[in-house]
Amino acid sequence: MPRPVKPKLVQEAPRAAYFKPRGIPINQLKEIILKIEELEALRLVDLEGMYQEDAAKEMGISRQTIQRMLGEARAKVIDALFAGKALRIEGGSYILQEGTGRYRCGRCGDTVPAEYGRRRQGWKCPTCDEKGEE
Ligand SMILES: [Zn+2]
Repeated sequence: MPRPVKPKLVQEAPRAAYFKPRGIPINQLKEIILKIEELEALRLVDLEGMYQEDAAKEMGISRQTIQRMLGEARAKVIDALFAGKALRIEGGSYILQEGTGRYRCGRCGDTVPAEYGRRRQGWKCPTCDEKGEE
């Protein structure tokens, strides 16, 4: 049985979700999927300049997890830029912060009680949990 995936807290959703290189015919275009929480990890560490440890706390995950996510996310972005692949930003397992004390599940779109966002470690979406999805 696969280990349950813990949702990561995401403070900001990206403004655009699809990037396509110019000059590559559609039938030759390859696509890379970058998860919402992978972009958030890149944003916190590489754009905001946070230490991995602090960014991990912000997202409610361990230092090891953010380190692995950063490695994968950086490799995906470089692959897209260098090889001329399209980048689609979507999916993953995350809870989106929608202002103070308001959270939304990235999978089902349901509003999540505030304590799920505050508790950080070990929270899950009640709706997805009920459905048995992880
Ligand atoms: Zn959910």
